[in-house]
Amino acid sequence: MAQILIRNLRKEFGDFTAVRSSTFTVEDGEFFMLLGPSGCGKTTTLRMIAGLELPTSGEILIGGEDVSRKPASQRDIAFVFQMFALYPHMNVRQNIAYPLISQGMRRREAKAKVLEVARLLGIEDILNRPVGGLSGGDRQRIALGRAIVRDPKCFLMDEPLGALDAEFREHMAEELRALHDRMGATTVYVTHDQLEAMQMGDKIVVMNHGVVEQFGAPQDIYDHPATMFVADFIGSPSMNFLAFDAALAAGDAVVRLGETDIAIPTLREAASGALALGVRPEHLHLSDAAPLRARIEAVEYLGASQIVTLSTPHGQVRVRTPVGEGGGVGDITGLALDTSTLSLFDANSGRALR
Ligand code: ATP
Repeated sequence: MAQILIRNLRKEFGDFTAVRSSTFTVEDGEFFMLLGPSGCGKTTTLRMIAGLELPTSGEILIGGEDVSRKPASQRDIAFVFQMFALYPHMNVRQNIAYPLISQGMRRREAKAKVLEVARLLGIEDILNRPVGGLSGGDRQRIALGRAIVRDPKCFLMDEPLGALDAEFREHMAEELRALHDRMGATTVYVTHDQLEAMQMGDKIVVMNHGVVEQFGAPQDIYDHPATMFVADFIGSPSMNFLAFDAALAAGDAVVRLGETDIAIPTLREAASGALALGVRPEHLHLSDAAPLRARIEAVEYLGASQIVTLSTPHGQVRVRTPVGEGGGVGDITGLALDTSTLSLFDANSGRALR
């Protein structure tokens, strides 16, 4: 079993705290995403799990064993980097076999193992080729092969597809996920691309400035963001925030936006002051009859649909609509909200209130 338990993990570099106090669990066999903007501490977290960086405090347990202070070589994990460093003077087979040979495995045994891995990756026909002239995708497959061949307890991947162009990247992402589903090894994967995280991950940790903002399944995070940062970072276009002031008791609440009463069910706690109603673009609809009035500021044509930007007395919103719906720039229309899916935030702390 290779469950990874991260408890109050912290990393300081001099005066700077790169990771504040991370706590999350990667279950055995999960494909787990570390997601966040550049500099939020993803790579530092991954390097601590790998044993390439020592935590300032906190614990890392792999398969129930505390490895926080153990060197990388004793953790039985494989690290796959963005830049696939292959040995240029070796052919594909020798590159994949290298970790086995350097561990002292006999050549015949290593050869069989390499073939098994090559079949899994669909590269058995290029095993005798030099790595020099190969495509980015094949080089990435070889780098993966070299990681897989040792049968590690878990895989750690730092933006492994970052160097590939967009179209091929999507293809490799699917391949990587399918490979994971065949092998079932616990995988922790760093990315700053929210779409990649949503598409590939069983679970996601969203980090910001060294802090874990939220941890959960993609759909859960999308539907119930714990903070305004997460709401804004996940989804494209991102969640809309309608700003207003109110004093609300816990439980079911009603707020007045424009001329509209909006029912907000199940507030966890009382709230007052500056609040923000969070609405995904697909849960806002243009409707002439709706009393919340809005002015169309821009229309962005996307082919199958369009993104309409509107100004309202509570701030700007973006709505995805069928092409041609709602009118043109300068027109006044109404905005209807699908209230079953609303989020509500304290605008000062950014915390979700329901
Ligand atoms: P990116 O996607 O840009 O790599 P990241 O989320 O992976 O971002 P980290 O690489 O973990 O972020 O870096 C987090 C912060 O810690 C950054 O501000 C970085 O400059 C800082 N940092 C990382 N390593 C060191 C180090 N060895 N010494 C000092 N500061 C460091």
